[in-house]
Amino acid sequence: MSKHIFITGGVVSSLGKGLTAASLGMLLERMGLRIRLQKFDPYINVDPGTMSPYQHGEVYVLDDGSETDLDLGHYERFTDAPVTSSCNYTTGQIYLTVINREREGGYLGHTVQVIPHVTDEIKRAILELATPEVDVVITEIGGTVGDIEGLPFLEAIRQLGLEVGRENCLYIHLTLVPFLKAAGEAKTKPTQHSVQKLREIGIQPDILICRTEVPLREEERRKIALFCNVELDAVIEERDKEYTIYEVPLSLARNGLPQLVARKLRLETGPLDLSDWEELVRRAIHPERTVTIAVVGKYVRHQDAYKSLYEALDHAGLAHETRVIVRRVEAEEIEERGPEPLLSAVDGILVPGGFGTRGTEGKMQAIQYAREQKIPFFGICLGMQCAVIEFARNVIGLAGANSTEFDPETRSPVICLMEEQKAVTNLGGTMRLGAYPCELLAGSRAHQCYGRDLVHERHRHRYEFNIAYRELFEKHGMVVTGLSPDGKLVEIVEIPAHPWYVAVQFHPEFKSKPTRPHPLFVGFVAAALAYRDRQEPTEASAVAGGSEA
Ligand code: GLN
Repeated sequence: MSKHIFITGGVVSSLGKGLTAASLGMLLERMGLRIRLQKFDPYINVDPGTMSPYQHGEVYVLDDGSETDLDLGHYERFTDAPVTSSCNYTTGQIYLTVINREREGGYLGHTVQVIPHVTDEIKRAILELATPEVDVVITEIGGTVGDIEGLPFLEAIRQLGLEVGRENCLYIHLTLVPFLKAAGEAKTKPTQHSVQKLREIGIQPDILICRTEVPLREEERRKIALFCNVELDAVIEERDKEYTIYEVPLSLARNGLPQLVARKLRLETGPLDLSDWEELVRRAIHPERTVTIAVVGKYVRHQDAYKSLYEALDHAGLAHETRVIVRRVEAEEIEERGPEPLLSAVDGILVPGGFGTRGTEGKMQAIQYAREQKIPFFGICLGMQCAVIEFARNVIGLAGANSTEFDPETRSPVICLMEEQKAVTNLGGTMRLGAYPCELLAGSRAHQCYGRDLVHERHRHRYEFNIAYRELFEKHGMVVTGLSPDGKLVEIVEIPAHPWYVAVQFHPEFKSKPTRPHPLFVGFVAAALAYRDRQEPTEASAVAGGSEA
């Protein structure tokens, strides 16, 4: 029988529940347990797919095509547990199921209510992961305790605790212990209040993980334990990390969390070996070199809009013992000031995915600059589409070339709507989504990076390279190096005459892990390092420290 861990958050949002859940999952997995991770998001959208990155951060895409919360990215980066559509539910999705069932007559004769019908559906979603192959299901409840939207989820996990038996589940509450400079001490009252809120609805947390800027003193931990009714050794400190999020599991392990969880749930575990992970963190803290990559996008001001992309760059850096300094460049600023002042000092230029016209001309200027100055260039999804348009206009000479997304009337639609998208009217969950195979051209840069002929990468787009133009592009030096096996969809283009110019229709960033950096990112960062060495051949690229991100 699977055991359950429920993770809630208190005091403020953005405490890093996802990271904590992922870290705990990783620690248990490394102790030999089979785990699954899952998140409930209390908003009413059925999935985050139609939300702006400003609202929600990145939309993380799974192999199976689900558009999910970015915390699932942490789950995949930290653990080897399968992550599927059953791992992310929103209020909207739960209600949609209940309401559809009601329309089908599934509740004939009954009044459909939050308790028990909505809570039953939430419990069903949790128990779906509790299969015989799974030792521990970790369920993260999004939002903050005290939110109206979160109540049905908290009620459902309260009920489930009784049903599976209190000894088979653990409630972990992540909370903030702010340090007040004026008082010179850490304040425990917000934590007391948020635990009170939990207890009002019948949940007594077993473990408190305390986010804090400063080390917690013994007396503060005692106070928290006393007022929140938890054992002293169940008050776990989680201090802010200075260098990398990958320190989180190490510090949780040092503070005894995995051992405590194993003891409380009476799990049989093996020894915990974190030496490879310690080595990763050592590389992150003490890199040998640095390299600067410009990310030219339109959501660069949002911390999490390109989350997986920044992580993938970090992973590739770790592979080269290099700190990747990301310079976030607003595409519209390039439109105003030109590429030179913003891009002349970088070692690589990356244009990520996106939607809509705003900023696309700036992205194209950045790509033209990378192409002409022979700066390593990596285009992803919309970044690839902009690269194709830029090449059509400035190399082939198709002056009005465009994507029909930006100009439906363009005379040279080098990027156009995919055939299967033409009949689509609903916008939710209807893009080309999830993993698809891609065949690589032997001898291409992509093929060299991957070292194989066939790869599977994740997609999220409606538009594609218009294959009618393929010959014209190849004649002018932009070559198709990745194709869907039916030969219809262009997945990768390259300029072989450029030192490193690779643009892909898919999102490689979703498959990068610190322990398994993505080959294209590794290749890109290697090219940026080589470019940097060519620029300043005498000066060893010394560590400058600090990140502009
Ligand atoms: N807007 C483009 C499309 O729909 C690119 C999407 C993306 O970058 N994810 O095809």
